Amino acid sequence: MNLPNRPFFPSLTVPFGSEQNSAFDAAFRSQTGRMTRSLGGRDSATVLESSAHPLANRAVSTLSPHLKLAWSHDIAMDLGTANTLVYVRKRGIVFNEPTVVAIHQDTGKVVSVGHRAKEMFGRTGRSISVVRPLKNGTIHDFDVASAMIRHLLGIVQTGFSMRGPRLVVGVPSGISYAERRAVADASLRSGVSTVLLAGESVAAAIGAGLSLEETAARMIVDIGGGTTEVAVMSKGEVLHFEAAPYAGDACDEAIQKYVRDERYLAIGCFEAERLKIQIGSASAVTSERSSLVTGQDILTGLPGRREITDGELSLALREPLSGIVGAIFAVLEQASPEIIDDISRSGICLAGGGSLLTDLPQIISEATGIACYRANDPLHCVVRGVGRIVDDLRTYKRLVFAE
Ligand code: ADP
Ligand code: MG
Repeated sequence: MNLPNRPFFPSLTVPFGSEQNSAFDAAFRSQTGRMTRSLGGRDSATVLESSAHPLANRAVSTLSPHLKLAWSHDIAMDLGTANTLVYVRKRGIVFNEPTVVAIHQDTGKVVSVGHRAKEMFGRTGRSISVVRPLKNGTIHDFDVASAMIRHLLGIVQTGFSMRGPRLVVGVPSGISYAERRAVADASLRSGVSTVLLAGESVAAAIGAGLSLEETAARMIVDIGGGTTEVAVMSKGEVLHFEAAPYAGDACDEAIQKYVRDERYLAIGCFEAERLKIQIGSASAVTSERSSLVTGQDILTGLPGRREITDGELSLALREPLSGIVGAIFAVLEQASPEIIDDISRSGICLAGGGSLLTDLPQIISEATGIACYRANDPLHCVVRGVGRIVDDLRTYKRLVFAE
């Protein structure tokens, strides 16, 4: 998918090296540890009450009365197909859970979001449906996505402010104008004063620490749940871009298909994902690690279980992985020899949760002949990027869609 005519990410010179000690980094580091401990299947709202509020209150209590009023809770959100993360200025990441919503069918009211909604998947009656509002890098269900955004903004907005907070949302780079409007409208209805949308590739590049001030081109590959976004950037400008519907979800579906076709067992997508994370590998493996999966025997219709090996998973993952490598090739084919030379010097940077698949950098490196590495903490690259943008809007504003 080419996006040549978008007023997308005009060129910009940003002093990235000096960003290392920003308030965002400090808040991010302190918050990440706390969130990891406090999650794990508990109610997101409870987590927010117990972990984020004391910090917020402490911060407020040390400020003068004048500053209390002016204290702004600007917010950044990574609206991913698989996971949604919310960063609040001075508090760090306050929400990090699956993009899954349980919604009341009649009233349209959100019952729960995140882990709790995911646990309800396949286990609800007629009155409640459990929905993943984003699919394949697009907003699949506008109403549910809007309700989720409003719900999240409602639970993270605390404290006082003279004006509503400003919000930067990282969205799939290929979403349409109508989808961008839907995200912006839902946010504005939740009391934010300004909404800015950032393409995930640019946010991921900022969060991965790529230097966008240089003229030399860099390649970032963000492998999320629904899509793989491949972008080549120079001086903050996207020169070449490709989005492919091959990422984490496609790997899970390929595993489901393999287990059904070859082992006659129907398994759920979350069971397939567990298998992928536990023993999946991008390279052809022979270590014969295995894991027990449970599902429905398609021959008898009864509950069934099978031992699946990592070798079987490598076979199952071949097709989606060649889709990911194909998207990288498509971008390399568009590039000039000078850009190819730049990329082969700096290497291909991988971000997003899908990049955590064992041996993925190695197989990309073997296929392209270009060194490939994972960014630090790839699941957090986009939220780190949008966090930096909201922390320093003056510098980064030109990198985002204004809404
Ligand atoms: P999105 O931006 O679309 O929300 P994320 O960047 O959060 O996606 O990545 C989610 C994807 O990463 C999911 O498909 C998940 O299965 C996958 N993932 C997470 N951890 C791992 C892992 N250790 N190995 C392989 N895949 C992983
Ligand atoms: Mg993402």
